[in-house]
Amino acid sequence: MTKKTVGYVHLEWQCPACGARNKGVDKICHSCSAAQPDDVQFEQVAQETLIQDEQLIAQAKAGPDVHCPFCGTRNSSKADQCSQCLADLSEAKAREAGQVVGAHQKNAAPDVACSFCGTMNSAAARHCVHCGAALPKAAPEAAAKPQVKRATGMSKTARFVLFGLLGLVVVACIAVMVLSSRTEEVVGEVQGVSWEYAVAIEALMPVEDEEWRDRVPDDADILSCQQEVRRTQANPAPGAVEVCGTPYTVDTGTGVGEVVQDCEYQVYDDYCTFTALQWREFDLASLAGDDLDPDWPNPSLAQDQRLGEETETYEVIFDADGRSYTYQPDDLNEFTQFEAGSRWILEINTFNAVRSVTPDR
Ligand SMILES: [Zn+2]
Ligand SMILES: [Zn+2]
Ligand SMILES: [Zn+2]
Repeated sequence: MTKKTVGYVHLEWQCPACGARNKGVDKICHSCSAAQPDDVQFEQVAQETLIQDEQLIAQAKAGPDVHCPFCGTRNSSKADQCSQCLADLSEAKAREAGQVVGAHQKNAAPDVACSFCGTMNSAAARHCVHCGAALPKAAPEAAAKPQVKRATGMSKTARFVLFGLLGLVVVACIAVMVLSSRTEEVVGEVQGVSWEYAVAIEALMPVEDEEWRDRVPDDADILSCQQEVRRTQANPAPGAVEVCGTPYTVDTGTGVGEVVQDCEYQVYDDYCTFTALQWREFDLASLAGDDLDPDWPNPSLAQDQRLGEETETYEVIFDADGRSYTYQPDDLNEFTQFEAGSRWILEINTFNAVRSVTPDR
């Protein structure tokens, strides 16, 4: 984040002795001549216009004012002697600075009515133009707060139904788990076996993809590119787009506020659509049989083709007292044990699925 200065504006302070509002640059109350104490903060004026006076801006940049250790009077940071009592200011305490006083009040504030005579006065005025009475501080223009829309909650009925359904699903899952874990044993005889071996055939094919230009493979064909935000960084860079937040006013400790903006920088880059050759499955060669001696297919490959993923599936059909059960061995080693006519103890669950097999000795 980079802090950018938009400009400088006048602040004001309220005299704790008489309640009068004073210009920020005034160190002594214009109404009762009391000095501004160091614990009386500067505030925003109702409408902030940027100061054009270079000398005043230079003063604001010079550093926070100091308070005389003897009489408390506010003096500029450059002063050696107190303007009020001529005391030495080398030990003087600087005002606090850097606090945010509020969002920059750029727009005109509504007029203020005098509480004595009712005359409408501009928001910037501190005294009634008609009767001279001190005017109340105008309310700063309300900052347009983003309207946060609350997600509309589900109705009670919908929630009730949803929880009901969830409950049913949980009950069903538990039932399936319980039922499938309940098993019984039967003795089965191998009726038949089958196997299928398949191997994918892959070919180099043009595949469309998207990537930043410097990451596009060398052999790819770029179809089109467009500028997109690649990253956002704190500091400016050539060609980067500056994105700044709402300006706000910071107390400089001099009666003048600095209007600043936090900015970041969006760096753009070419994001491209391209086609590049990639290995993709385009055919499947398979062999199947009903013996215990499976064989891998051996397809002839054209140029720019290669063999891909291999899959093997085995199946054994048992007969147990006239009922038939299917079992799928994991690998060839297990599969070759199922000689036709051999007898096995089958563990069967409630859904007639074979959970495990062991030789019947
Ligand atoms: Zn006063
Ligand atoms: Zn003094
Ligand atoms: Zn008045």
